[in-house]
Amino acid sequence: MSNENSSIHEFDFNLICEYFASIDRQGPGSPEATLKALGFIDNLTDESRIADIGCGTGGQTMTLAQHARGFITGIDLFPQFIDLFNAQAARLHLSEKAKGVVGSMESLPFQPGELDLIWSEGAIYNIGFERGINEWHPLLKPGGYLAVTEASWFTDQRPAEIETFWNDAYPQIDTIAAKVALMQQAGYVPVATFILPETCWTDHFYQPQEKAQADFLRKYAGNATAEAFVANERREARLYDLYKQYYGYVFYIGKKI
Ligand code: SAH
Repeated sequence: MSNENSSIHEFDFNLICEYFASIDRQGPGSPEATLKALGFIDNLTDESRIADIGCGTGGQTMTLAQHARGFITGIDLFPQFIDLFNAQAARLHLSEKAKGVVGSMESLPFQPGELDLIWSEGAIYNIGFERGINEWHPLLKPGGYLAVTEASWFTDQRPAEIETFWNDAYPQIDTIAAKVALMQQAGYVPVATFILPETCWTDHFYQPQEKAQADFLRKYAGNATAEAFVANERREARLYDLYKQYYGYVFYIGKKI
């Protein structure tokens, strides 16, 4: 976020935060996909330290906390998300297993070699995949795991409309093979990759937004920022429906050597 017009940016920021706080997930995913990825992690004990980076309100963290051994620290930049995360953990009697803290993925509050597992769903794009996997690598113990989801191309060629959209939204989107090569270069054994099923986008991400959008537009009727934001989210969902054979989210699981 730039500094000019900071009051306007702050207003946008609060609106976006409010919108996403009203739904369970802030990115595509599902409990089934989280558990499938967890199935590849074989080193956890009750003493394990796990970080869930860009955890949002904790949709996937609660699934992890219910099924993984060890203690999870959820990190997110938005205090409102972290409040919801900790309230949810308390409601599910998981406060002994997971704690949310406000922080940035650019300066994580962990010591070198402290972590057994780094998790991050739909969030590493904020720092960029290549930078994230490299900067987080020293925080893992040897033999520790990284499990992240990242927007990826499924084919070498794409229709121009979707290519343009992604080059604007996240130019680092690339093929699965290219992302795996980056993992290898960063010092991870590429243990597994799998494409998140379409329902991770439709049932778990775009459909819950439809009600949130209606409520949001009612509350902020006539507000150009809110209307533009919702129009943008709807465009994104429409593009997914049109072009989902060309891109999606992929789980990348790697082991530090
Ligand atoms: N993992 C959640 C949220 C994904 S949305 C889910 O899958 O539902 C991406 C999240 O990254 C948001 O919650 C956003 O607040 C967070 N985020 C963005 N930039 C960040 C940064 N620099 N450090 C930590 N979190 C960040």
